[in-house]
Amino acid sequence: MHLSMDMLVIGFGTGGKLVAGAMGRRGARVAIVEQSDHMYGGTCINIGCVPTKSLVHLAETRNLDADPDEWFRRAACTTKVLTGQLRQKNFAALDAIETVTVINGRAAFLDPHTVSVATPHDTLVISADVIVIDTGSEPVIPHIPGLSASCHTYTSTGLLDTTQRPGRLAIIGGGNVGIEFASVYAQFGTEVTVLEESGRLFAREDDDVAAAAIAILRDAGVAIRTGAHVTAIDDHAEAGVVRYTHDGAEAAVEAEAILVSAGRTPATVGLGLSAAGVRTTERGAVIVDEHLRTSQPHIYAVGDVNGGPQFTYISHDDSRIVLDYLHGTGKRSTSDRVAVPYTVFLTPPLARVGLTEREAVEAGRSVDVAVKRIEDVAGMPRSDIMGDTRGLMKFVIDADTDEILGAALLCIDAQELINLVALAMRHHLTASELRDTIFTHPTSTEAIGEVLAARRPGVAQRPKPVEAGQPS
Ligand SMILES: Cc1cc2nc3c(=O)[nH]c(=O)nc-3n(C[C@H](O)[C@H](O)[C@H](O)COP(=O)(O)OP(=O)(O)OC[C@H]3O[C@@H](n4cnc5c(N)ncnc54)[C@H](O)[C@@H]3O)c2cc1C
Repeated sequence: MHLSMDMLVIGFGTGGKLVAGAMGRRGARVAIVEQSDHMYGGTCINIGCVPTKSLVHLAETRNLDADPDEWFRRAACTTKVLTGQLRQKNFAALDAIETVTVINGRAAFLDPHTVSVATPHDTLVISADVIVIDTGSEPVIPHIPGLSASCHTYTSTGLLDTTQRPGRLAIIGGGNVGIEFASVYAQFGTEVTVLEESGRLFAREDDDVAAAAIAILRDAGVAIRTGAHVTAIDDHAEAGVVRYTHDGAEAAVEAEAILVSAGRTPATVGLGLSAAGVRTTERGAVIVDEHLRTSQPHIYAVGDVNGGPQFTYISHDDSRIVLDYLHGTGKRSTSDRVAVPYTVFLTPPLARVGLTEREAVEAGRSVDVAVKRIEDVAGMPRSDIMGDTRGLMKFVIDADTDEILGAALLCIDAQELINLVALAMRHHLTASELRDTIFTHPTSTEAIGEVLAARRPGVAQRPKPVEAGQPS
């Protein structure tokens, strides 16, 4: 069968579904192709943000008197029910639009305007005037002897699928995903070891912020091995042995489950991009301009596949850029993105926006810092009410202009608070204006005023002594 459409969207991820829905509501004939009927709504809903944060919540509220295996099984089942409901809701939302056709199959380009779609039953050919690629990303599996073959190896997707709690979990890679799983499983009562190749977890963060986050993970029972180079996996029926070197010495950790969280790469293999004349980077990311046009002007790429930051809200914003280019002012672009925040959902979460103190100093700014441990913030009773006074809040401020350069919030509600700080930064509110805002009470937000009032010159950027012979 050959379908001729106004628009074809490849991949039912966040950006793709939003473009498809908006175009369908305008009356355009849209086909959206998704390779798995378990993935309507994409990574976020099915195997990413939603299931992981459901587990974060259920781990945080764990009844310590309950059997940990049974609690975990129930948490995993509750999460599966939730993702199933959201998947169905996502499918129904597009399916209800008369001009949108949802097709379950795997797409590959035949030429710049045509794809073939291998469905469970047959092969379709679809041609379209405009094509949007939203195929997401896939986990990177490093070449470590024994890793792929081990029956104890999991990607994040595989681990989210299990309802059986591993007694021991080894995590290869201490990035955002690895840290979130470490925090969650430790709270579920699993013995967790994180193996990270670099010299420190939270390598991008300032030393004080990283130290506070690492202390929280350690207190939760997570064993952290940094500078650990994994060399091999020995497989046994009951558990795998992860062998690694550390400071030239050999070491090993045994675990029933080994999570590989070594990053994700754009999903372009098998997509036939060369047949379409769509260019990619060496890493396989689709090359796009600031309006997300590929090397073919009628083909766009949104979300993880274009090599940008791997977050759902970036894919969402990508969809707004494409829609604005097609039917709006064409003024939206990726170059407008300033102060884009992110959160690592350990407990409590670490949320960040803008520059760290170190980055600000390296950028030549003269820096003030406002930092307080949450337990020292007098005006934040919410943390006492919630029973979690761990963490800190840190703001980096330009001492000359009062501009907020960045913030690191490691505390309860940080995933919400960071959006307020990002908004203030985006709209050039000064640190003093943010400090003097009226905040409701008792909330976590009100701590912002008190922390900003504790502003002082940054330590890291004290003027360096002028060397003899140098002009002062
Ligand atoms: C464990 C985990 C936790 C995460 N947590 C967060 C979080 O808390 N917050 C956050 O913002 N981000 C989080 N992310 C990242 C976020 O999920 C992704 O950045 C986002 O979902 C990417 O969306 P997308 O639109 O690029 O594509 P996706 O949502 O990945 O969708 C791509 C779709 O394309 C389909 N597809 C691929 N190839 C083909 C083909 N050839 N034919 C047809 N269909 C195809 C795939 O099956 C998939 O459904 C997390 C990711 C993971 C893995």
